[in-house]
Amino acid sequence: MSGADEVIQRERSFLLQTYNRYPVVIGRGKGVYLYDLDGKRYLDFVAGLGVNALGHAHPRIVKTIREQAAKVIHLSNLYYNEYQGQLAEKLCQLSGLQRVFFSNSGTEAIEGSIKLARLAGHRAGGEAKSQLVALQGSYHGRTFGSMSLTGQDKYRKGFEPLLEDVTFVAQNDVEGLRAAVNDNTCAIVLEPIFGEGGIRECSVEFLRECRVLADSHRAALIFDEIQCGLGRTGTIFAFQTFGVTPDMVAIAKPIAAGLPLGAFIAKEEFASAISAGQHGTTFGGGPLACRVALEYLAIVEEEKLLENVVRVGAYLQQQLKELAQRYAAVQEARGRGLIQGLQLDIPARPIVDQALSQGVLFNSTQDTVLRFLPPFMLQEKHVDKGLRVLKKLLGKKRRGS
Ligand SMILES: *Cc1c(COP(=O)(O)O)cnc(C)c1O
Repeated sequence: MSGADEVIQRERSFLLQTYNRYPVVIGRGKGVYLYDLDGKRYLDFVAGLGVNALGHAHPRIVKTIREQAAKVIHLSNLYYNEYQGQLAEKLCQLSGLQRVFFSNSGTEAIEGSIKLARLAGHRAGGEAKSQLVALQGSYHGRTFGSMSLTGQDKYRKGFEPLLEDVTFVAQNDVEGLRAAVNDNTCAIVLEPIFGEGGIRECSVEFLRECRVLADSHRAALIFDEIQCGLGRTGTIFAFQTFGVTPDMVAIAKPIAAGLPLGAFIAKEEFASAISAGQHGTTFGGGPLACRVALEYLAIVEEEKLLENVVRVGAYLQQQLKELAQRYAAVQEARGRGLIQGLQLDIPARPIVDQALSQGVLFNSTQDTVLRFLPPFMLQEKHVDKGLRVLKKLLGKKRRGS
């Protein structure tokens, strides 16, 4: 058996069978490329589902991990470390919000944010002020709280009962939103751009109405920027792109360049509802993850990666829009920056499989959407290379093209 077959067979025997993996074993990466065990190279438009925004093996990240690992990796939250406060200060400066809690993952960031919204809700309006409003088609994670906010049956089915006090509204349905939010609402939770849900944006009008309703009913407006945040739209926070500021924002995926770290950042008026002992975590906010996250933010700034996201993102968008005009199987190009999607009217997975065998990694979501979440230092030449492969797989051109 080859090395890859052995890896795959062993997993089949010993892992809970929760993943539908591609048949490739990746051994290493460098920049926008990954390499399998045989040394075959893949151009990476997935970036660990948006985690590897700095690509792979960034020298400054490798150096920071080495240095800090040799000093101290973990301390628990019984003690101070040098970096948790610095990272929180930086995130507050960048967001304009006031207090941070660090978790290990995205789903825990959401979980913590709704726990805080419940505390603030009860303080403002008593026990009844506990209801949550979320969007149909959303994705917020796999723990019970965030799964309860996730507006897709396929993630919920079989796990009931979930949190009961969640009302779902269609994305961009302003009337539906008005009908759902009332004085017993403690939070409105949404992704400004649906990620797993197929790269679908909330309209500015809808987000503004969320802001107005949250204010008038003293509810928390919580943005899940776990996928679209930290630079992917071309601004550090996606809400800065849309011009609507939430009361809390949840982040995770790229923040520690691949180490597990999540966070939510809250306005003081909500943050002040929690006291010592009411929430916590063993791993979250450790010195290694926080120091690496500070380095992530420094690299994004110093290498001017947001400018690259805007420029190459616009180029990618223009190329995808051209595909939508030229190819019969492509309906629409959606998204911005380096979070984009191509709506097909055929299944996307076979295209992803064939692209992989030709050395390009794409991802599919919602069955018929190709999703692009590449590293921030992607260049136009990489877009050209990836789309050259994609074009060959898209089949017939439209008549006249
Ligand atoms: C990935 C993701 C989550 C869940 O994060 P995990 O780290 O997998 O728990 C939540 N919300 C959105 C929008 C995501 O993309």
